Amino acid sequence: MAKVTHCEICGKKFKWYRWRYECKQCGKNVCGKCLKTVRDINIKSKTYGKRIFLCKDCYDNLQREYKKAKDIIVVRSSHVGGHKTIRILGEISTGIAYEDFDDAKFELQYNTLKMGGNAILNYKYIRHKYSQITNGGGTYYYSLFTARGTVAVVEKIQKSQKRVAKKTELGES
Ligand SMILES: [Zn+2]
Ligand SMILES: [Zn+2]
Repeated sequence: MAKVTHCEICGKKFKWYRWRYECKQCGKNVCGKCLKTVRDINIKSKTYGKRIFLCKDCYDNLQREYKKAKDIIVVRSSHVGGHKTIRILGEISTGIAYEDFDDAKFELQYNTLKMGGNAILNYKYIRHKYSQITNGGGTYYYSLFTARGTVAVVEKIQKSQKRVAKKTELGES
């Protein structure tokens, strides 16, 4: 295997001050300027929950996916106001515990997208209590969170379409 001597994005030569990094996604060799560090939230990945290196191109692709994940509808009950449930794809839960609510929620949103859903129903946080003993002899507690929900495909009901939907239900085509 020939050794890559130049950054595969900007084309600059690797030197002692311009290190070579490998993109976890596409395997390209890139320099530090063409590199981004992210946390791997792909549950199926071996490096899940850890920090990984991505090249700028793969990072941009990921950002586009992240943006789409933000559009996932998250509701705490099976009642999705203004939407109707088309199908349930399965249960989902975070693989690791997070200090921040939003991180746990976002992991579910991102994985919902991967499962082909656009909504999480019956969304719920689960609090885990951890203890930590300090030098002072006291025990301090802190919490971590996981989250879970049901992945579903829902469709927005438009007011003008309600009548049409009703007709379809009655068997007219
Ligand atoms: Zn570069
Ligand atoms: Zn890449």
